[in-house]
Amino acid sequence: MDLYSVETYLRPKSVTEVSDWQPDWNWLAGGTWIFNEVQPQVKTLVDMQQFDWSEIEVTPQGLSIGTTCIQNDLLDFSFPKPWSATEALKDAVRELASFKLSHAATVGGNICLALSASTFAPAMVALNASYEIWRPHNEPYFVDAVDFQTAPQQTILQPGEVLRSIKIPIWNLAQWQTSFKRMAVCTAGYAIAIVVTAYHPQTQQVRFGIGGSVKAPRLIEFDTVPTLEQIVGAIRESPLQLYIDDERGSAAYRQHITQVLMQRGIDELTAGINGKRRY
Ligand SMILES: Cc1cc2nc3c(=O)[nH]c(=O)nc-3n(C[C@H](O)[C@H](O)[C@H](O)COP(=O)(O)OP(=O)(O)OC[C@H]3O[C@@H](n4cnc5c(N)ncnc54)[C@H](O)[C@@H]3O)c2cc1C
Repeated sequence: MDLYSVETYLRPKSVTEVSDWQPDWNWLAGGTWIFNEVQPQVKTLVDMQQFDWSEIEVTPQGLSIGTTCIQNDLLDFSFPKPWSATEALKDAVRELASFKLSHAATVGGNICLALSASTFAPAMVALNASYEIWRPHNEPYFVDAVDFQTAPQQTILQPGEVLRSIKIPIWNLAQWQTSFKRMAVCTAGYAIAIVVTAYHPQTQQVRFGIGGSVKAPRLIEFDTVPTLEQIVGAIRESPLQLYIDDERGSAAYRQHITQVLMQRGIDELTAGINGKRRY
């Protein structure tokens, strides 16, 4: 799409070149959303391509993903074998859209766009990720994935701030098993609920990253594998106002579907226990 309001295109080599941030500037990552919508408020696009922030790094602390990492690169990367939880990242790529998108869209672009249908946001919450944020004239800071988004298409980012990288602790990668469940009202439709379940078979800990149904991603966790009653209890603890209520589904419907996906996720991951399904 021709963005008629855009008058300037900047392609800085380093983030320090854009310290004088203006209100009508916009970061450009993969551009799959920016060039897909009219952006009347945007006069300048600041392309991040030359920052060289697209790394996927295995470190002693865990995994570091540069914000401009192309989503599809996660499918091709050879993660350490015990890091079974990286499957959730691969599912986030597969469940987002077609290969045309995943070969251009970035991991950070999906997180910063903060659509309720983001597949990466609930995955990052389930994996206990934190985000490294760079800001002009100040030290970088970190925020937990669960605290990054405040509402649909709203994050804690202030003007000029930029997501630099995503860090996932090694503890949340090794041995955890994951299940990715996404529900839409029609095939390839917009998600009305997404649940990423992470389960540690030795400790029995369970973390649910909830997206799609809620205005901002949520974390629900248990120290042991929850029963159906515990899942229902945890879901009902939070007010219905946290859920999206629109033409695709009412808040009550989305809440119910979220609960069903949580059940299915943990059921799938523990199906082998005592040789029988739990639900
Ligand atoms: C057919 C189709 C289907 C889609 N389906 C989905 C879907 O199911 N779920 C979904 O979530 N999205 C969907 N999208 C929207 C979008 O394409 C994806 O969210 C994609 O991952 C965005 O990544 P990008 O790199 O292209 O971001 P861009 O389009 O480049 O940027 C998106 C926004 O994030 C900001 N931004 C990007 N990187 C940073 C950063 N590092 N720091 C600060 N701000 C940043 C940009 O300024 C912009 O406002 C779809 C798009 C299309 C065309």
